[in-house]
Amino acid sequence: SLSVPYTGRFAPSPTGPLHFGSLLAALASYVDARANNGRWLVRIEDLDPPREDPSAASAILHILDAYGLHWDGEVRYQSERHDAYQQVLQQLISNDLAFPCQCSRKQLGGLPHQGNCHCQATTDIAWRFLCPAGELCFDDGLQGRWCSDLTQEIGDFVIKRRDGPWSYQLAVVTDDIDQGITHIVRGIDLIDSTARQILLYQALQHPLPCYSHIPVALEANGQKLSKQNLAQPLTTENISQTLWLALSWLGQQPPPPLQSCSPGELLQWAVQHWQPLALAGQRERPAPQGFQRE
Ligand code: GLU
Repeated sequence: SLSVPYTGRFAPSPTGPLHFGSLLAALASYVDARANNGRWLVRIEDLDPPREDPSAASAILHILDAYGLHWDGEVRYQSERHDAYQQVLQQLISNDLAFPCQCSRKQLGGLPHQGNCHCQATTDIAWRFLCPAGELCFDDGLQGRWCSDLTQEIGDFVIKRRDGPWSYQLAVVTDDIDQGITHIVRGIDLIDSTARQILLYQALQHPLPCYSHIPVALEANGQKLSKQNLAQPLTTENISQTLWLALSWLGQQPPPPLQSCSPGELLQWAVQHWQPLALAGQRERPAPQGFQRE
């Protein structure tokens, strides 16, 4: 509602350094927040140490800072939030919305449902969210109406994994609620998680944030620009040129002379001229030359 002040966030998983693709999500969420006089938070989603690089979190923060993407308040680390996730799990259990399941996905053979969760008891149990039947739709700020068939596409999804860690879905919703996030701007690669997250908001009886999913940057070979395919890490060289390219990619039209201005001046221009709908309906765009793998 209009009386709730805008709070946005960037929530990287510290699996590697920031690359051009992740800069796009950081930049879009930052500019959208500032253009709405909002707060902008950074949260390190360090839930899964084996997949992480111990130096990545500080490297990411260093690059954000160098690019002028200054966040409000303290950085939050999900590794320090186990008690909060446990409380939310407990609340879901008390409301009969979560159940334990020993079965692996393979044993279940297809989408899991409470009714087919009968495997040999092992020491490891996962907790799953009891997904209702039906269709769930939401209106994305950029991608329009987006619907999922809950039974066919979602099923009873994991909220705490058998090998210990909290699921991304449970942790992200717990923290977005706790931090008062009203607007989520992130990559379209996460749009299929949104239905699960909305189900958790509903189960926790909390109003939904507004979602905007930006397109994905593709390499020349058509693959997503991501840490997995070794997109080059951003450095502290050519910051203004990189920001300029990122703003152009986001459908903004920064005047060429801005490339020789400071990052702060570029961001100020972006906030003042922000056209949030420039990417409406787009799901993918080619990455600019120089940010593709050779
Ligand atoms: N930590 C997630 C990732 O880096 C993003 C979380 C989000 O923006 O909801 O893929």
